[in-house]
This record gives sequence, C-alpha cells and structure tokens, in this order.
Amino acid sequence: MIIILFGPPGAGKGTQAQRIEKSKGLIQLSTGDMLRAAVAAQTHYGQKAKDKMDAGQLVSDDIVIGIIADRIKADDCKGGFLLDGFPRNVAQAQALDVMLAEEGVKLDAVIEMKVDDAVLVDRISGRYTCAKCNEGYHDTNLKPVVEGVCDNCGGTEFKRRNDDNAETVAKRLKEYYAQTAPVLPYYAEKGILQQVNGMNAIDEVAAQIDAVLAV
Ligand code: ADP
Ligand code: ADP
Ligand code: ZN
Repeated sequence: MIIILFGPPGAGKGTQAQRIEKSKGLIQLSTGDMLRAAVAAQTHYGQKAKDKMDAGQLVSDDIVIGIIADRIKADDCKGGFLLDGFPRNVAQAQALDVMLAEEGVKLDAVIEMKVDDAVLVDRISGRYTCAKCNEGYHDTNLKPVVEGVCDNCGGTEFKRRNDDNAETVAKRLKEYYAQTAPVLPYYAEKGILQQVNGMNAIDEVAAQIDAVLAV
C-alpha cells in the first residue's frame, strides 16, 4: 500500500505516520525528517536546504524530488510506504506520479487531515521529539508515560525544531495555503482523496484513518 498523509504543519501527520508504521508495517518517508538529517550531516543538499527551512519556505523541488525518487527504490519500500510532507506543490505531485509509474506501482489513498489554524499553532509550539529515536511528543497533549523518558527507546534527551517558533510557523502556514493546498484538487480529480477530522484526539484520528484504509 502507498499512501500520502496530507495536511498543514502541525496537523498530526508525523504522529499518525509513526503509528501506521508500527501497526501496518508501512515505511514512513518524511521529507522534513530527511532534510533535517541532511542539514545535521552538513551534506551538499543540507546546506542548500537550511536557509529555506529556517525561513519557513519550501526547499527547491529538484532537491526533494531527488531525495524521494532515490528513497522509494530501496528494498525496504517494496512492502509499501507512507509519504509525510511530500508532495507539497503540484509539480511535486506530478513528479511523484512519474516515479510511481516507473516503479510500476500506484497510489492507494491521499488522506487529508483538517485542523484549524489556531490549534496548529498550539500543536507546533508544544511539539518536541526524542533526540535518539525521533518519537514525537507534545508539552500537554502527548507526554511520555514517565516524565523525561522516551516511551519508545528509554532515551532521556529531547529536542525542539528551529522552525517551530511563532514567526516561522505563520510563514509555513502561508506557504501551505498558497502552494500545498492546491494539490488537493489534483488528487480529488483522481478519486483518491479522503478526509479525516484532525481536530479529534490522536486515537480517534488513528481510528478514522484505519477506517479509510480498510475500505
Ligand atoms: P505534522 O507532522 O503534521 O507537522 P505532528 O505529528 O508533529 O504534526 O504533530 C504536531 C504536534 O501536535 C506534536 O507535538 C503532536 O504530539 C501533537 N499532536 C498530533 N496529533 C494530535 C492530536 N490529534 N491532538 C492533539 N495533539 C496532537
Ligand atoms: P511540518 O509538517 O511541520 O510543516 P516538515 O517537517 O514536513 O514540517 O517540513 C519542515 C520544512 O522542510 C518545511 O517548512 C520546508 O522548508 C521543508 N520541506 C519538507 N518537505 C518539503 C517538500 N516536500 N518540499 C519542499 N520543502 C519541504
Ligand atoms: Zn526515543
């Protein structure tokens, strides 16, 4: 199965992707995570991407399309994968169609997670992750069972993203509505767009996604 989790920054894509990866064995492909790894490793791509990311703007299409095109060819993606944060504009969506056709596979579903802007800002400002395994948490909505200890790996160090500040979040939301939301009609026309209410609690959203995928 190949699915896209679609939605604005803070909608809960990564949170649901981590759950689906565990429950359904689909590989989570997050362009945001891949770009942050490239920035940390100071690769050529990473150096080009960093300023755009810090400014809340999209990284250039050739970089992200190149990263995804390479990644989906790997053996671990043969059993299916889940795209989180890609595509983010119509050109990326078209490039994805070409890549999938070359691999002889097709998209099963695009799941749009709808969340009001005010809630997005709250989610993003409380977001943090385990520094060791990247498991996602939130200051009030999703705390580790034992305070200060990662549920997933037992790690005790956590990190916050550079771009999760109020000023950059406003820019990222603008980019979403200007560049990314126009991808929705592209998938609606193909008849594969589904919607879930991302305002619900994490477990309820997960149940809605399960229901959509079970059809
Ligand atoms: P995205 O990948 O779409 O940017 P995340 O999955 O990182 O979003 O979620 C943003 C923040 O909101 C995280 O701190 C996460 O723990 C929290 N969160 C995710 N889904 C929900 C939800 N349904 N209700 C409340 N908080 C949530
Ligand atoms: P969020 O879900 O909170 O918006 P991501 O981790 O998906 O954050 O993305 C963080 C940043 O990485 C984006 O603001 C953008 O600069 C860059 N980025 C991630 N995915 C893409 C993409 N598909 N195209 C262009 N830029 C991207
Ligand atoms: Zn961890």
